Amino acid sequence: MEKRTELYRGKAKTVYTTDDPERLILHFRNDTSAFDGEKVEQLDRKGMINNKFNNFIMDKLEAAGVATQIDKVLSDTETLVKRLDMIPVECVVRNYAAGSLVRRLGVEEGQELSPATFELFLKNDALHDPMINETHAVAFGWATAEQLAQMKSLTFKVNDVLKQLFDDAGMLLVDFKLEFGVAADGSIVLGDEFSPDGCRLWDKETRKKLDKDRFRQGLGGVVEAYEEVANRLGVAL
Ligand code: UDP
Repeated sequence: MEKRTELYRGKAKTVYTTDDPERLILHFRNDTSAFDGEKVEQLDRKGMINNKFNNFIMDKLEAAGVATQIDKVLSDTETLVKRLDMIPVECVVRNYAAGSLVRRLGVEEGQELSPATFELFLKNDALHDPMINETHAVAFGWATAEQLAQMKSLTFKVNDVLKQLFDDAGMLLVDFKLEFGVAADGSIVLGDEFSPDGCRLWDKETRKKLDKDRFRQGLGGVVEAYEEVANRLGVAL
């Protein structure tokens, strides 16, 4: 597998083309960003932890029947993935109130949500990722109704699998964001990443934050928290 040119540089990962037109390389960097890229810091070891963490989680999801873009791990910070045509819509499931939900609705952080909620956001930094609904996504051609239905059902399936996985390791899966893409055969496949950068995880007993809120809120110990999550799950770092 030969790495060719940089295709896209996101806030935490860089995507490279390869000699195989159907395969890309994801490089997990140490850059950590919040508030649409306004706050950026380099956190030593974070790229390696997120790459290994993401591969561990995606393996669990594949085993549960969720198609993911992972092909194989190439190094501590690089993974070979199937090329997807990414859908510019973020899917968020929440089991407890936090973050933008608390800001938007004035509800109390930590309130358990029953049923778990589902939200869509347009991936657009300049517009600060505005919340949208399914009719916006279809009307503007970001996704078809069929694709959205599949994305929603897959996101809830991921919630079922991961809520249990984190619960068994003494953590609450508060909320998380997923991104999907369309594979060469037209099927919907889970892309991007699942790591503490894109979800909220609290210790079950103390409700200590173990995710990127430590960075957003300047609580310190960001990488240490990510490492703790990985250790509790048995991810080999
Ligand atoms: N999230 C993300 N990328 C985004 C926006 C949100 O990964 O661009 C994740 C975030 O880490 C959290 C969940 O999606 O786990 C819900 O985020 P929320 O809507 O509460 O927004 P935030 O408070 O992160 O701005």
